[in-house]
Amino acid sequence: VLGTTLNLEFEDMPLPRSLLMGIFEAGFEKPSPIQEQAIPAALEHRDILARAKNGTGKTAAFVIPLLARVDEGVRKGRSGIQAIVLVPTRELALQTAQVCKTLSKHMGIEVMVTTGGTTLKDDILRLGQTVHVLVGTPGRILDLAGKGIADLSGCGVFVMDEADKLLSPEFGPVMEGLLGYLPPPVEGDNKDAIGRQVMLFSATFPMIVKDFKDKHMRSPYEINLMDELTLKGVTQYYAFVEERQKVHCLNTLFSKLQINQSIIFCNSTNRVELLAKKITELGYSCFYSHAKMLQSHRNRVFHDFRSGTCRNLVCSDLLTRGIDIQAVNVVINFDFPKNSETYLHRIGRSGRFGHLGLAINLVTYEDRFNLDRIERELGTEISPIPREVDRRLY
Ligand code: ADP
Ligand code: MG
Repeated sequence: VLGTTLNLEFEDMPLPRSLLMGIFEAGFEKPSPIQEQAIPAALEHRDILARAKNGTGKTAAFVIPLLARVDEGVRKGRSGIQAIVLVPTRELALQTAQVCKTLSKHMGIEVMVTTGGTTLKDDILRLGQTVHVLVGTPGRILDLAGKGIADLSGCGVFVMDEADKLLSPEFGPVMEGLLGYLPPPVEGDNKDAIGRQVMLFSATFPMIVKDFKDKHMRSPYEINLMDELTLKGVTQYYAFVEERQKVHCLNTLFSKLQINQSIIFCNSTNRVELLAKKITELGYSCFYSHAKMLQSHRNRVFHDFRSGTCRNLVCSDLLTRGIDIQAVNVVINFDFPKNSETYLHRIGRSGRFGHLGLAINLVTYEDRFNLDRIERELGTEISPIPREVDRRLY
C-alpha cells in the first residue's frame, strides 16, 4: 500500500542517536518511501518540494531532518528559533507539535505551538525563554514576527505542510510577508552559514505551488509519490439519497457498519451542529467541531476524540487536512464535497499508513455531476453501496 522502497534504514541516515531513540520509541521501524527520499535530501540542506499521498508519513519526513538540524546549544530567549513549521489549522498545529515533541523526546529541543484564538500574552512569556522549533498557523506567526516578539533572523528551516492550502488566497499574502522575516537563502555550498531552507509538503499541488517554487525556492529536490492509485486502501461507496432522507440513511449506516471511529463531513458550519444534535437524538455518541467554536472548546473536542472518548465526530472542512487518527476507519460525506481536492483530503482521514478504510458518500440529485467529475479527476472508483459491506475492507 505504501509503494516502492529503496530499503534504506533510519540507522543509515546521518541522524543523532538521541533522535534515533525517539524515532524507534514512536514505533517507526523503517522509513516510509516519502521519508526515505525526503530525509537525506533535507539533511543536505536542499529545498524540498514533496508530494505524497495522505497517510504515508509526510510529517516525520520533515520533522526528522528539522530536528537533526537544530542546534540544541542555542538557548537564548527570543532569538533561539531555528525552525518553523506552518500548517493551515490549529488542530493540525497541535498534532504536528506533538509529533515534534515525541520524536525529540531524548533531545534537548524546545517545541512551541502557537495559533490564533489564544492570547498573545502567553506567547510573549513563552518566547522570552528558549524555543527552538515553532509550530503554528500563519497569521499568528506573522503577528509575532511583525511585533518583534519572535525573532526569525536565525530561523534556517521553513516548512509548509499542506503547502497548497497555505499558498491559497486565504493565506498566500501572509506567507509572502513571513518570508521577509527569515534569513535569505545562502549562495553556494556553505553549510555553516544560516540561510533558509524551504520545504513544501502536500498531497495536492496545483499551479500556485509552481509560482511559489519559481519565486522562492532554489533548485528544490522534487519528490512525487502520487503515481500509483491515490486512494488505494480506501474503499469508496456512494448512496443516492434525497436531502430529507440523509439522517435516516446515516442511522442505517451506523447500525450496519462496524465503526471503530468515524468522521462525518458537512459542507457548512450550521449543518454541523444540527446534524450532531440529530445523531445524539438517535442514540449515538457524537462530538462536533467547526470554525465558529471557541478555540479552547475545539481543542478539547479534538483531544478527546483522538483519545477515543467518543466514536463519531461531525465537522466542517476545518478538519479536512492532515488530521491523523488511526482509529478512524470510516469517513462519511454527509454532504458531498464540491471539488476533488476537498474530496481527496477528507477521504484521506481514513486508511492511514497502510490501514484500510471505508468512505461513504451521500449523494443527492444535485451532486450527481460532481460525483462523476471527482471520480474522473482522481481516476478513482466510487461504487454504489452494496447491501452488506465486507468487514474485511475496513
Ligand atoms: P501524511 O502527513 O502523509 O498524511 P502522517 O505524517 O500524518 O501522514 O502519518 C500517518 C501515520 O503514519 C501517523 O500515525 C504516523 O505515526 C505513522 N508513521 C509515519 N511514519 C512511520 C514509519 N516510518 N513507521 C510507522 N509508522 C509511521
Ligand atoms: Mg500530513
